[in-house]
Amino acid sequence: MLRSFLLFLSEREAPKKLLLRSSLGRRLAARFIAGEELEHAVAAVRRLTAEGFAVTLDYLGESVHEGRHAEEACQVYLSILDRLVAESLQSHISVKLTQLGLAIDEVLARRHLEAICQRGTQYRNFVRIDMESSAYTDATLRVFRAVGAPRDVLGIVMQSYLYRSEKDVEELLKEGARIRLCKGAYQEPPELAFPGKADVDRNYVKLMEKLLLSGHCHAIATHDPRMIAATQAFARVHGIGVDRFEFQMLYGIRRRLQRELLDQGYRVRVYVPYGRQWYPYFMRRLAERPANLLFLVRNLFRR
Ligand SMILES: Cc1cc2nc3c(=O)[nH]c(=O)nc-3n(C[C@H](O)[C@H](O)[C@H](O)COP(=O)(O)OP(=O)(O)OC[C@H]3O[C@@H](n4cnc5c(N)ncnc54)[C@H](O)[C@@H]3O)c2cc1C
Repeated sequence: MLRSFLLFLSEREAPKKLLLRSSLGRRLAARFIAGEELEHAVAAVRRLTAEGFAVTLDYLGESVHEGRHAEEACQVYLSILDRLVAESLQSHISVKLTQLGLAIDEVLARRHLEAICQRGTQYRNFVRIDMESSAYTDATLRVFRAVGAPRDVLGIVMQSYLYRSEKDVEELLKEGARIRLCKGAYQEPPELAFPGKADVDRNYVKLMEKLLLSGHCHAIATHDPRMIAATQAFARVHGIGVDRFEFQMLYGIRRRLQRELLDQGYRVRVYVPYGRQWYPYFMRRLAERPANLLFLVRNLFRR
């Protein structure tokens, strides 16, 4: 119930305006985002890489409905790639296709993604397309395939809560795609997604096993210790080395666990979001864990 309500709010303008304008909102969001400016993100990349983590940078924004905003987002991503090279920083980037114009025109989003992938290829970097709500799954897969960037430059995300993901994963693996596996963060109807956590988790383990057996390097993105333990056990039994996959977690979430995995010799990539459009991302993080909401309420009353 609470999760659904928060995800509902994440798409509403009124609470968005309220929270984006308030300094309290910004302070609360600081737990999950590196900051509003590229400088903040660059500092986070520098700090995390110095600690031994790998990073992927996300310039926050989604559901763009004006072509000029999609163009701006594309330019920002190109400048991020330039900046990383200029400062000899190692970081992948993560992009949302609705930020690049997918909700306006598929061709527009493809053109922007192509430009970003070209720059990524030039710098031997890696671009990951985040997966958004099921309204965009087909279009996202079409754009991913149409761009035709090398598989070591462009990768995609699969969500274990969707029934369709097993088939999608099988097809993508045949195409040599690099996949980030997550559970899924959006509000989806029971016709399309498992409503119960146990089924989402069971499917996660099933898909994780397919990824690990594929021979390519994929990303296991979760903060769930049971998913992580299942991955470690499966890799051990099948002799899959720690260099053949990586764990990924979100900035600010379960930092001790991130550190422990790193200390155990696993590659851990931290997803670092930054930018002013943090509201929907922030609300999805609240929806994932009710305790985060208590934290927010406590801070509201403390003022
Ligand atoms: C690197 C990365 C990239 C992602 N990319 C996408 C994407 O492209 N598309 C998409 O739909 N989703 C994406 N997600 C989000 C994902 O789908 C889940 O919503 C999110 O990761 C929570 O699921 P979980 O696997 O951590 O398991 P859960 O069962 O939700 O959580 C397990 C435990 O992790 C901790 N935890 C989880 N979330 C939080 C939180 N917000 N705050 C504090 N503690 C928390 C809690 O201790 C919880 O008990 C991504 C997640 C990661 C880590």
